[in-house]
Amino acid sequence: MIIKQRFQPIELKIWNYLNGRAKLSPAQIKNFSACDKGFEGEKEFDKWGENLSCKCLILNDLLLEYDQNIFQIDTLLITHETIYLINVKNYEGDFYYESGKWYTLARSEIKDPLLQLKRSEYLFKKLIRSIDSTNFIIEPLLVFINPYYHLYHAPMNLPIIYPAQLERFKTKLNMQTTKLNDKHLKMAKQLQSLHKTNSFYTQIPDYDYDQLKKGVVCLACSSFKLDLNKDKLECLECGCVEAADLAVLRSVEEFKLLFPDKKITTHSIYEWCGVIKSKKTIRRILSKNFKLYGHGKSSHYDDK
Ligand SMILES: [Zn+2]
Repeated sequence: MIIKQRFQPIELKIWNYLNGRAKLSPAQIKNFSACDKGFEGEKEFDKWGENLSCKCLILNDLLLEYDQNIFQIDTLLITHETIYLINVKNYEGDFYYESGKWYTLARSEIKDPLLQLKRSEYLFKKLIRSIDSTNFIIEPLLVFINPYYHLYHAPMNLPIIYPAQLERFKTKLNMQTTKLNDKHLKMAKQLQSLHKTNSFYTQIPDYDYDQLKKGVVCLACSSFKLDLNKDKLECLECGCVEAADLAVLRSVEEFKLLFPDKKITTHSIYEWCGVIKSKKTIRRILSKNFKLYGHGKSSHYDDK
């Protein structure tokens, strides 16, 4: 049973928004692509877990804290006796392992993915002992999800599941048929409540309002070439048609995420959307969907 779902990371959402509105540097494109690939790998792992038949509780994408140390777990899988602490990597291609270090075949050293796992394991053990007296076995695992990944010279005792071993791991998990009890559920709910949503952990790229291209982007193809026809926006690139109200609300969401400190006003959204030439239309959409706070120049819209 899934207790906590996985959502697209805020960092990735921001990258996606910025991608069309700013010229990303090669370093930024690299970060964007790594973030995107990481999330794709996690979604692949979720798909793998969909037909697990063992009695287990799953918490995805947990950001926890112990003693002022923040740590992240891609998937926590709670079975009767064991808690699997899983980090997923979507590496592709050939790598090798030598004296505790990780390299690409071109001899370029990469960050040891086991270090992050070890740190999470250490902090998670401390955290779990502080909230639960049950002696669960904590098993950290690094899962390589991409079928085109290979690691040469890796010792056998590393806590790793390779792509070719995933089905056997599933069979092993499915053999655990002992039912979970209220204690497991209580602990899962408690861990869920400890999840930190305010992620100062997220690495958000630098950007500036003035540098970003303004306009509504097409829902289907992300083009800015939209034409307003009565109350609909039509994309001149792909032909996709969307109600103008919905397109503006989508753009407000984007604006809110990119600029949490900026106020939502008729003027700011009018400028941000560009394509809607009537401030009256913007005001109507905002007042229908948000609450107006304040008066005169300081008035702005926010969630109801
Ligand atoms: Zn389009």
